[in-house]
Amino acid sequence: MNNIIIGAGVYGLASALSLLEIGEDVTVIDSNYSNIASNNALGRLDSVLKGSGSSGHLSVQNNMKNGPMRPDNQKHLAYESYKKHKDNYRKLKNLSGIDYFLKDVLTLQICFDEKEFIQIAESIDDIKSYGFDITPLEGYKKVAQYQKEISRDIYGAALISGTLFLDSKSFVSCLKKCIEIKGAKILNDLVETIETGHKELTLKSGNNINYDNLIVSAGPWTKELISSSGANINIYPAKGEIIKLDPNGFNLEYHIHGSCSIVRKSDGLIWVAATYEENKFDSNITEESKNELIDNASLMIPCIRDFQVIDQTACVRPATKDGMPIVKEIIRNSGVYVASGGGGWGIMQSFYIGELVKNMITIKE
Ligand SMILES: Cc1cc2nc3c(=O)[nH]c(=O)nc-3n(C[C@H](O)[C@H](O)[C@H](O)COP(=O)(O)OP(=O)(O)OC[C@H]3O[C@@H](n4cnc5c(N)ncnc54)[C@H](O)[C@@H]3O)c2cc1C
Repeated sequence: MNNIIIGAGVYGLASALSLLEIGEDVTVIDSNYSNIASNNALGRLDSVLKGSGSSGHLSVQNNMKNGPMRPDNQKHLAYESYKKHKDNYRKLKNLSGIDYFLKDVLTLQICFDEKEFIQIAESIDDIKSYGFDITPLEGYKKVAQYQKEISRDIYGAALISGTLFLDSKSFVSCLKKCIEIKGAKILNDLVETIETGHKELTLKSGNNINYDNLIVSAGPWTKELISSSGANINIYPAKGEIIKLDPNGFNLEYHIHGSCSIVRKSDGLIWVAATYEENKFDSNITEESKNELIDNASLMIPCIRDFQVIDQTACVRPATKDGMPIVKEIIRNSGVYVASGGGGWGIMQSFYIGELVKNMITIKE
């Protein structure tokens, strides 16, 4: 079968990999947009805590009820996705020769008030059932034994093991290399329209191309592209920014999580992530976002204000209202599938989504 995948972000690439592993023909078409989410994500893989754009203290401020923990409906997907990363790392690194630095980093989940602390303490069994370990630390002084620069205004924290981080840009390069080695064709072009009747795509270069199966993984551009086939899909853009700080001798061994994520990444810089702006479709960095991230980070580590910001990135997530990805055939028996909507967790979900795409297509065949 002639499988065409639109989009060489993590969703499209992981889907390509799954299909190639069962001997399918795969062509990936990508427009090479700059600053895509897959290349600029924080790269956190975590099956128990919420995303950094919507977590802890911020959730409470926004009157969201479920605090720092991941919503129940996302837990299974998160856990299965997380496990696949552990299974695949060495295999893909060896095949491609590209390391994407998957590593364990202990998380200090900051609790700003007693309510957050009780909620974490009540989730101990749940957190352990996912193979994570957790030690509640009540009171600022106990937390300061781990990270002495922590704010005196916090109520406490939980030390949680199990969080993984990877370098997302290298992860994309690794996936691309792996699918090339396994025989995929990669075409640099922009798909302008999808014509489901003749199973044909119109490309910006003026060429047309036919497909048996089409998988649309065009990130936040998916909705617009799919509309050219007459179908509708509810995926919307959610802009996110990250700042990167010069550690300048600061010894950060933990992932500090609460009002945002603060972590030292494999490039040696301290990353602070992330902002979240719904329905904003641009990748321009802003002073407001930089200040918001510094304000949020300094609620946990006050001295972060003194660090020099040496980089800032902005990109757009493909988001859905319920936070769950969309993986389905959009028009019955059309051979057109959508795999998108990873929101703030698309890097973590990628291998699991790839497997779902493979299952959808092979069941049909
Ligand atoms: C600030 C931030 C932090 C994040 N942190 C994390 C994290 O810690 N952990 C995590 O798991 N996830 C994280 N994410 C989420 C994750 O980055 C995204 O969910 C994921 O990268 C989306 O991947 P994708 O393949 O669906 O889309 P994209 O990465 O957007 O890729 C889509 C691709 O489609 C191509 N394309 C679009 N339109 C066309 C067309 N018409 N023709 C051809 N090609 C086209 C584009 O060029 C692009 O290459 C974060 C996101 C942001 C913004």
